[in-house]
Amino acid sequence: MISVVVPIYNEEELVVRFHEAVTNALENIGSEWEVVYVNDGSTDSSLELLKQMQSLDSHVVIVELSRNWGHMGAISAGLATASGDAVILMDGDFQDPPEVLPQLIEAWRGGGEIVVAVRTSRQEQSKVLRTLFPLFYRVLATIADYPIPLDAGIFSLLDRRAVDTINAMGEKNRYLPGLRAWVGYRNSVVYYERQDRLAGDRKLSFLSRIKYAMDAVTSFSYKPLRFTFALGSFSGCMAFVLVISMLLSKSSMTTVGLGIAATVFFVGGLMLVSMGVLGEYLGRVYDEVRSRPLSIINNVHRSSAMLITQAGNDMGQEEPEKIFRTEAA
Ligand code: UDP
Ligand code: MG
Repeated sequence: MISVVVPIYNEEELVVRFHEAVTNALENIGSEWEVVYVNDGSTDSSLELLKQMQSLDSHVVIVELSRNWGHMGAISAGLATASGDAVILMDGDFQDPPEVLPQLIEAWRGGGEIVVAVRTSRQEQSKVLRTLFPLFYRVLATIADYPIPLDAGIFSLLDRRAVDTINAMGEKNRYLPGLRAWVGYRNSVVYYERQDRLAGDRKLSFLSRIKYAMDAVTSFSYKPLRFTFALGSFSGCMAFVLVISMLLSKSSMTTVGLGIAATVFFVGGLMLVSMGVLGEYLGRVYDEVRSRPLSIINNVHRSSAMLITQAGNDMGQEEPEKIFRTEAA
């Protein structure tokens, strides 16, 4: 059985078309399959459309989150719900093309326990993002304490063993492409061209992207901390040299005053930047200590046909009023 996990936030223009495309791609794979749509608190008609799709197609599973939790919260809820022997993660806006799915499955059948879809090119409209994304991957690869493959987002296939391992990890500030590399297992790669979003606006704000990039850096590198330590040592030495040279010089009071002001600003700036970097790490430590879940699931709707074939028990249309914690393995 293959599960495809798709986070959905206000994608009413796309969900129906997307499901058709996924159905076309999976029809002939010769395995059972399900598509787990995680409705991440959509405020448009996405959820109604998903329910209609489910009434027509028993392959559709809907995970309804309690509110909008963001991309990674939705993905984690999907990972915890998917029941397949292999789970594919992809976005629901056609940027990860459904035609690539059979190739991922082929590579899994060929022995890959984690099959990563790597982007050979990007077709996005936004020039800024087209430049920033590859740059981010390269900076991360340079500073990461553990090698993380370049140009790979969430689009990938994970074998059940890898899914269980990742579900069992309690990390709250998850950077999935990093964790996926970190867990090890037999890796395979499939190359594809990243498309532009087919319709609608991008749903992730620039700020949430920055937070995600910071998650990536802080969870896979201590170098920013070490760098601020080096910078602090350097400015300490500079201050020492300045004091010595001022003691030796015979210049006027103004120069001395300016020198002091410049030094205060310089050292103050360095300290604030260092505290900011420290704060990024400390804030995340606080998140981990509070141990709040990544997202909360209100309901999981499975079609009754699917329930009969899968469990052979319960004929219920859905599992109401249960609060699942995404972190549950
Ligand atoms: N998404 C989500 N929750 C959010 C924002 C986005 O589940 O808060 C979904 C969205 O519906 C899409 C995927 O995550 O399927 C990627 O979002 P988007 O295309 O906006 O991100 P981008 O591709 O621009 O990085
Ligand atoms: Mg997108």
